[in-house]
Amino acid sequence: MDAVSPQPAPELAPVRPVLAEAVELARAALVELGEGEVGAHLGVTFEDESAATHRFDARLPGYRGWQWAVVLAAVPDSDHVTVSELALLPGPDALIAPDWLPWDERIRAGDLTPGGLLPPRVDDVRLVPGYVATGDPVVDDLALEVGLGRKQVLSLEGRLEAAERWRTGEYGPDSEMAKAAPSTCEMCGFYLPLAGSLRVAFGVCGNELAADGHVVYAEYGCGAHSDTELPTGAGSAQFEAYDDGAVEVVALPAPVVVVEEDPASTD
Ligand code: SF4
Repeated sequence: MDAVSPQPAPELAPVRPVLAEAVELARAALVELGEGEVGAHLGVTFEDESAATHRFDARLPGYRGWQWAVVLAAVPDSDHVTVSELALLPGPDALIAPDWLPWDERIRAGDLTPGGLLPPRVDDVRLVPGYVATGDPVVDDLALEVGLGRKQVLSLEGRLEAAERWRTGEYGPDSEMAKAAPSTCEMCGFYLPLAGSLRVAFGVCGNELAADGHVVYAEYGCGAHSDTELPTGAGSAQFEAYDDGAVEVVALPAPVVVVEEDPASTD
C-alpha cells in the first residue's frame, strides 16, 4: 500500500503548462538536496499565476506519509522556470504530533513532584480574593486571629468541585469498603470533621490502620470503625478454634484374654 495519499486535483485554477510540465526540474532539485530517495510524483497544485508546487513521496525513515514540496516559479509570458523553495511537509496520512496544548491544560493530578512549582491558572474560577492586609497592624492581627490571613480562598465553585471529587472518590459512600462497613465515619471516634461549610459532609480519618489522613465522606465507613466489635467465639485469628466439647469416637481392638494354666493339672 502507498504510504502517501496523492493530493487532490487543484481546485483554484489550472497550473500554467510550463510549470506543470517541469516535473523533472523539481525532482532534480530534490536529488541535488541529497536528503534521501525521492519517491513518486504525487501532483502539482496552483499557487498563483507565476508559481506552482510539485509534490513527491518522501521516502525518509521516520517520516511515513510526508511529502516533498517543490515550489517552481516562472514569470508571466516566460518559459524559464526556476526553483523557489523546497520543503518537507506532512501529507494527509502523515504521522504528526498532536495539537499543542498550553501547559495548564496538559498538567494532570499526580504530575506535581517534590520541588515543582504549580501556580493556579490565571483567573482560576476555584479561587476568590480573601482578606487583603490593610497595613493597620491592629486590624491585620485581628484578621489573622479570626482566620482571614489568606490572599485567596476557595470559591463556591472550587468547594463544590472538591466536594464532588471526594464524594465520588475512593473514600465516598459508593465505594466497596463503605458498602461493607459496619457503620459510617460520622459515627466513628477516629473521624475529625473539616472546618467551614464542608464540615457537614466531610472529615479526616485519624486511624492509622484505615484511611489515615485522607478526607472521607461522612457516610463512608470501614471495618476499623471505632465501634467495631469482634464476633464472640471467633477465637484467635491465627489458629483454628479447638472444640473441646466435641466427642471423637475411636474404634478399639478387641481385648486379648490370657488364660493362665493351673500347675496342678499338669501332673
Ligand atoms: S476508621 Fe474507618 S470508619 Fe472510622 S473515620 Fe476512619 S475510615 Fe471512617
